[in-house]
Amino acid sequence: MDFKKLPPVQEQIMKCVRCGKCRSVCPVFAEIRNETAAPRGHVFMVQMLRDGKVEPDSEVYDYLANCLLCETCSINCPSGIDIHELNAAARSYIYEHHPSVSKELIFDTLWTKPSLLRTSTKFLWGAQKSGLQALARNLGLMKILPGDLPKAEGILSSVPLRSGRSLVREVNPARGEKRFRVGYFLGCGTDLFQPQVAKATVEVLTRNGCEVIVPRETRCCGMPHLANGKMDTARKLLAHNVKIFNGYDFDYIITDCASCSSALTEKNIKFVLGGLKIEDEALVFADKVMDLTKFLVDILDIQLPDNPDAKTRKVTFHDPCHLANAQGIKSQPRELLQRLPGVQLVEMAEANRCCGGSGTYSITHYDLSMKILDRKMDNAMATGADYLATCCPSCMMQLQYGVRRCKWDCQVVHPIELVYEYYQSLPEIAPV
Ligand code: SF4
Ligand code: SF4
Repeated sequence: MDFKKLPPVQEQIMKCVRCGKCRSVCPVFAEIRNETAAPRGHVFMVQMLRDGKVEPDSEVYDYLANCLLCETCSINCPSGIDIHELNAAARSYIYEHHPSVSKELIFDTLWTKPSLLRTSTKFLWGAQKSGLQALARNLGLMKILPGDLPKAEGILSSVPLRSGRSLVREVNPARGEKRFRVGYFLGCGTDLFQPQVAKATVEVLTRNGCEVIVPRETRCCGMPHLANGKMDTARKLLAHNVKIFNGYDFDYIITDCASCSSALTEKNIKFVLGGLKIEDEALVFADKVMDLTKFLVDILDIQLPDNPDAKTRKVTFHDPCHLANAQGIKSQPRELLQRLPGVQLVEMAEANRCCGGSGTYSITHYDLSMKILDRKMDNAMATGADYLATCCPSCMMQLQYGVRRCKWDCQVVHPIELVYEYYQSLPEIAPV
């Protein structure tokens, strides 16, 4: 689709009144203090791109790519401009003029084929365990990797051997009376880097009356592709997932990853697939998609049995941008944590400020990402929590890295892990 015909580019861009509200909330501008890095500057840049006043070249791409796509600017813009959508659309427009071989390899060859992506991750695990990675580092071989990847190597430093898919079955019957038939959208981040979250999700859902199906043909939600100028590939991935999940008769489609649920919302579907033949089918699919914590609290109304011996735990919560900003989901993860016996929820300052991870951002913009992470860690550590909870595997990786960097004795978890652990801690009920 022509970039200039996209609704945000056609209709919204003219609404900017240059008020600067977006600039005052942008975590990147707070670090760089340069108008070209501000959302308002991005709107202006996209306008010039549309009007042919600047060339779609790599310099313009780099300005726009400084942005985390955290959506903080969009939700604060009084004119209602979807600034992050303008940015993502412009990146794709520029990419079409300047395709890159390494991006094709990563985003079209690897990241569209789950089995290939899993094999590469296993290779990474093998390299870590055998010391090959350390050897490559010592020989300076890591330096030949693209972008900031060599610097960001530490973020990927704890790849688990088992994938989420290998820990959960395709069909998982409900325990007790069945209430819902649920499709579990198992995203790449959870599958490859936080497999214990996948296991906990399936276990908790089945314990609460859900039959859980994990379609094996699920592919990436397309969010990393959108962030890297590959909207064409994001379209294909979304269309594929729509066909797969619509082939089942699900009551709900649940995911534990904030980025996946935000990619599968009606709003993003309209942005990426709007005007295409598949749009109506995709909206039927989007209507069933829900974040896991929202489903557990609002739909299942999960109640956890009391246990006087429950471990006392101090937990703080980081809002993933794709959950709080993109979907307005803030209360449900907190409510879920507070329903857990023994949990004391302590709020950190600026809980909904980006952690700097933003999918691939910490790899493409390592130094800037670390500055944003440092502020997050200061706020989190000030709570003195034992657990740092969040609902996105990408945030989890970034925060795990932050915890290691700060040598902080704190465990980063998805709230569902604490729920599952709590169930496991309950004494077995003897059969009557
Ligand atoms: S907040 Fe919206 S209207 Fe104000 S400068 Fe930013 S984009 Fe323009
Ligand atoms: S999406 Fe986030 S990082 Fe990007 S311009 Fe808006 S506020 Fe700044």
